[in-house]
Amino acid sequence: MKLSQTIQWFPGHMAKARREATERIQMVDVVIELVDARIPESSRNPIVQEIIGQKPSVIVLNKMDLANPQDTKRWIQTYQEQGMHAIAIDAQHNKGLNALKKLLQDIMKPVHEEQRKKGVKPRDIRLMILGIPNVGKSTLINRFVGKNQAITGNKPGVTKAQRWLKVGQQFSLLDTPGILWPKFEDPDVGKKLAITGAIKDQLLHMDDLALYLLDRLVDANPEALKRYNISQNDIDALSTVDLLLLITEKMGLREDYDEASFRIIHDFRSHRLGSLTLDPPYESVSYEG
Ligand code: GDP
Repeated sequence: MKLSQTIQWFPGHMAKARREATERIQMVDVVIELVDARIPESSRNPIVQEIIGQKPSVIVLNKMDLANPQDTKRWIQTYQEQGMHAIAIDAQHNKGLNALKKLLQDIMKPVHEEQRKKGVKPRDIRLMILGIPNVGKSTLINRFVGKNQAITGNKPGVTKAQRWLKVGQQFSLLDTPGILWPKFEDPDVGKKLAITGAIKDQLLHMDDLALYLLDRLVDANPEALKRYNISQNDIDALSTVDLLLLITEKMGLREDYDEASFRIIHDFRSHRLGSLTLDPPYESVSYEG
């Protein structure tokens, strides 16, 4: 298991994470707030904007390969309408990284122009990555930096000095990302975080998670259920609970609903149930009247 997934967020840890992130932010020009494109809102730290303050930042929806492309577009639009810089990438497969670099340069353009007017030659753009566990921070750092600069792990008990890693000619990146805590209060957010693997499954009931996921699949991508020999007629006739019972039976698992649920969640995480966004973009938009 990855270390980041075993973090217990006690209040002391949260205060420390906040302090460290706030300190590091002083050292950079632009903050990259990394989220999971399948759950852009649910994977945002609740007070990230407070932590970032006035510093220029961009919200980067990573794992776009796993999310519904239309929903991702709408999320980006929503964030842009809120006055934020937003872009989607797939760090795993190196997609969208050049567009991200271009956006970072655009963000710094006005500052650089001011500097040039004053006769100051702009230096490289300093970056840090900030986000909750499992959104792909280490993956992005590795992709940005390439194979030539090995990233060494922190030895237990030894505080490592921050290092600046070169990203091409134009950027420097802090080698340690800022790790923030996820949202805990809303039970639905907890389910989405568990389904995507951001928090430990053991904290929640597998069948609860599977029912939640099935509900979303029935709405957004019923085709995916063909994998379990579920027809559109079944979907139309059965409740989500009955669907889970039928899938369990079709898997030959008798009444082992937990195992069937585990397999469904695993299939989703392994991208075998299609590209699906669990935070539907329209939910965040408030309509008047
Ligand atoms: P961190 O905890 O934020 O540093 O997250 P990691 O970089 O360790 O990534 C968590 C998991 O997500 C790993 O299994 C990565 O391989 C995977 N991952 C990261 N970025 C992407 C992406 O863009 N697409 C997909 N499909 N998987 C990704």
